[in-house]
Amino acid sequence: MDNEKIIIANWKMKLNLQETLELAKSIKAKFKDLKKGEIAVCPNFISLLEVAKILKGGKIGLGAQDVFWEQKGAYTGEISPGLLVEAGCKYVIIGHSERRKFLMENYEIIHKEIKAVLQVEDLIPIVCIGENWDERKTDRRDYVLYDQLQQALSGVDVVGDQKIILAYEPIWAIGSGTAIEPSEAEYAHKIIKLTLNNMFGMEMVNNNFKIIYGGSINPKNVKGFVGLENLDGMLVGGASLDADEFYSVVKAVL
Ligand code: PEP
Repeated sequence: MDNEKIIIANWKMKLNLQETLELAKSIKAKFKDLKKGEIAVCPNFISLLEVAKILKGGKIGLGAQDVFWEQKGAYTGEISPGLLVEAGCKYVIIGHSERRKFLMENYEIIHKEIKAVLQVEDLIPIVCIGENWDERKTDRRDYVLYDQLQQALSGVDVVGDQKIILAYEPIWAIGSGTAIEPSEAEYAHKIIKLTLNNMFGMEMVNNNFKIIYGGSINPKNVKGFVGLENLDGMLVGGASLDADEFYSVVKAVL
């Protein structure tokens, strides 16, 4: 992939429709002079079309928070990769730990979603992986990351210039207000990179993959993460809900 850093805002289900549109407008205005890097916002499903209109002509990309693994059919309540593209999305988050926790998503589902997204042109999956606190404190993180990558990506064909973003999100850090130590993130990103190299080859990993960190990043702690090896950007939850805070995070990274 290119060397541009990417910062993605995950707004979860934290805003109503009006708040979502106001935040999209503020962020578009704040970032109008953005010269480098890539920024994307992921609002809730029902705001996508309106946010796409707001972002049109600006520098901010649009992403969704989930996707279904079939392109069309009798799947009540689901949204296909093609529909997301029609709505203006360039990115989609897959396998967020909150979906694994509250909606029982497992790696079979995540695997199918990644494959479905890669079948559609111009939609980039942001695949979330990360250990929980129990796995962390019993020293199983490295294996968990390896295993999650295998389950999510084994047998996935990455062709041409298709892109995949891996988001390392230690579950215990998400929404906690405290990010992990940057050195720990650097170590985890190295495990991810080496596993991907093993699965896809170094050249493909360098060209087609990005590895980003997510978990309680804010304007104060972000500086510790700047310049880390194998860190291509950030997935930001809480701190992306305020245009000024998000701007400070982005400015520190770019
Ligand atoms: C997330 O849920 O993807 C996330 C990074 O959230 P927060 O920044 O609030 O920890």
